[in-house]
Amino acid sequence: MKTINYDTLKNTVRDLAIASIYDLDEEVVQGLVKGLEKETNTLTKTIIKEIIENANIAKTKRIPICQDTGIVVVFLEIGNEVHFDFLIDDAINDGIKEAYEGELFRMSVVRHPLDRVNTFTNTPCIIHSKNVLGDKLKITVCPKGAGSENLSQMKMLIPKDGLEGVVKFVIDSVMFAGGKVCPPMIVGVGIGGNFEESALLSKKALIRPLEDESSDEIANKLEKRLLKEVNELNIGPMGVGGKTTALAVKVNVGPCHIAALPVSVNFQCHASRHKEAIL
Ligand code: SF4
Repeated sequence: MKTINYDTLKNTVRDLAIASIYDLDEEVVQGLVKGLEKETNTLTKTIIKEIIENANIAKTKRIPICQDTGIVVVFLEIGNEVHFDFLIDDAINDGIKEAYEGELFRMSVVRHPLDRVNTFTNTPCIIHSKNVLGDKLKITVCPKGAGSENLSQMKMLIPKDGLEGVVKFVIDSVMFAGGKVCPPMIVGVGIGGNFEESALLSKKALIRPLEDESSDEIANKLEKRLLKEVNELNIGPMGVGGKTTALAVKVNVGPCHIAALPVSVNFQCHASRHKEAIL
């Protein structure tokens, strides 16, 4: 049995949050560079260059990639041989509080959706845990801005809607989101589960590596088809038109009820922030 102490977890979460807000993943930068090579319109190219320059400035000058430093979503994979003598959620929230207070990131969390009083700690964050075998703890920290989250959609389709119904829903959702999700976007699609599970599948799809391909044959084909169709919509970077609307479409699937076909679409803007560590 391995014991992880409170300070180790808190400090790891703090450092991951800080790194994610300053350092855009290199794979996203490379995705933007590839998009730049495909574009011909001057304004479209200028927008992509500015997004890349913004990421470079954020990294070198330690300025947040975006002013919306987000509500933080944390994914945990907890090995069955890992032991904690404290509440995991407390250490995670304390790590986030320390990061946001220490770096003066914008505090973006209110204590109640209707009284709108800021907690001024950027907590609580949203924590999803999964039990796995082994003596490791995997932590993925994802600050998520409201711009892309607010345009995300969920629909309970029925089995007769089938694949074409799913494609229509995803494309309609992307068209509705347009430039408001600060594209180039990453589109996370969750198909299956139930009402809440499909949303979680779509959120988890967003943290898959950009080059990752689904091992599910149907989802794999769907990812390629949707990426092509989304990039033909001419929404383009920040909605100015172009071929680079999405850097990736990721489809996660799960078992569901015989009478249901839940589908969720979770958007990630170009400020795709997530970092992970294994303890
Ligand atoms: S959608 Fe993303 S890039 Fe746009 S304001 Fe929100 S966090 Fe920033």
